[in-house]
Amino acid sequence: MKLFLKKSKKQWKRIVWIYSFCFMVANLGFAGCSAKPTCYQRIDTAMGTVVKETVYVEKGGEDITAQIRAQIVTLEEQFLSRRKETAELYQINTHAGETQGIAVSETLWGICMELLEVSERSGGAFDFTVGETVRLWDIDSYAAKEKEEVVLPSPDQIAASLADTGYEKLQLQNGRITLHKGMQLDLGAAGKGIACDAVLTFLRSQPQVAGAIISVGGSILTYGKKPDGTLWNVGIVDPLNPSDYVGGLALEGQWCVSTSGDYERYVEVEGRRYHHIIDPDSGYPADAGLTSVTILSRSGVLSDALSTACFVLGYEESLTLLETYDAHGLFVDKQGNVMWTPGMERYYMPG
Ligand code: AMP
Ligand code: MG
Repeated sequence: MKLFLKKSKKQWKRIVWIYSFCFMVANLGFAGCSAKPTCYQRIDTAMGTVVKETVYVEKGGEDITAQIRAQIVTLEEQFLSRRKETAELYQINTHAGETQGIAVSETLWGICMELLEVSERSGGAFDFTVGETVRLWDIDSYAAKEKEEVVLPSPDQIAASLADTGYEKLQLQNGRITLHKGMQLDLGAAGKGIACDAVLTFLRSQPQVAGAIISVGGSILTYGKKPDGTLWNVGIVDPLNPSDYVGGLALEGQWCVSTSGDYERYVEVEGRRYHHIIDPDSGYPADAGLTSVTILSRSGVLSDALSTACFVLGYEESLTLLETYDAHGLFVDKQGNVMWTPGMERYYMPG
């Protein structure tokens, strides 16, 4: 104490300055903490599926999550729905067989162009003109327990529906899309990924959002950072035991992850599973030895379309396709073996 008091004027000045500086730094640090983004969560339904949102933002999280849902609902109502009259896709399907076709927005035109390329590069394993065959099987109604008695389509019905199917027969000219009679479009295999892309565009326009992880059914968007600096962790469901996980992906920053699996929507008849992913070649549920495919890509429309394409193609045939898109894949076969592309190695953590 004595020693402490015995300071020269110059020394005191120095001590006061150091204390003031430390207090200022401490206050800055404290202010930094109080401004830490808070975690906002919301679970909802849109596009006929569950939408889970986790957003890290200083304030106004409820508003951000509500706007995210609104983006998805608008996308469905304006463009992608097969059931809502307001949607361009509904109008295209309803006017199938008319020579003029339907004038579509730049948004839907761009989506169709990108999907046509996936159809071509996958040799037709992905084909969004498969709508008539999808309707014929109507697996969604059984999965939603809307229909009790199962009536499987006959081989003749399947053959007839395939006669009207094929992306090569689609006419896209001068901003108009024309379907010949009997052809129906179905964007179910890419819609959730397209929603992730729309949410990404929205989040980029909101600089106050530090990070977010949004799942729209089987497609997940990661964006930005978590305040604690840990990576985004996306679990991969075990298709043979869907209440468990085969592992997870540890991701930094912006990614899209989509999974297609035969456990998601199906009906069982005499011990045989009929699921919702159709092989456009046979018209029957795809059977390439897989139970699930997970795709990692920067783009939502691609991760979703490619997960469906790869499920139809099988492991070996998917490898080149994924390389051309610089996308990574993780496959689970019917025996439960997990395989992945070389690029997936650094993100996959087995469970
Ligand atoms: P996903 O769960 O993303 O693989 O999408 C499956 C949904 O896409 C189905 O419920 C159908 O609506 C549609 N679909 C089924 N098979 C195909 C296919 N081979 N190509 C494009 N869409 C398909
Ligand atoms: Mg898909």
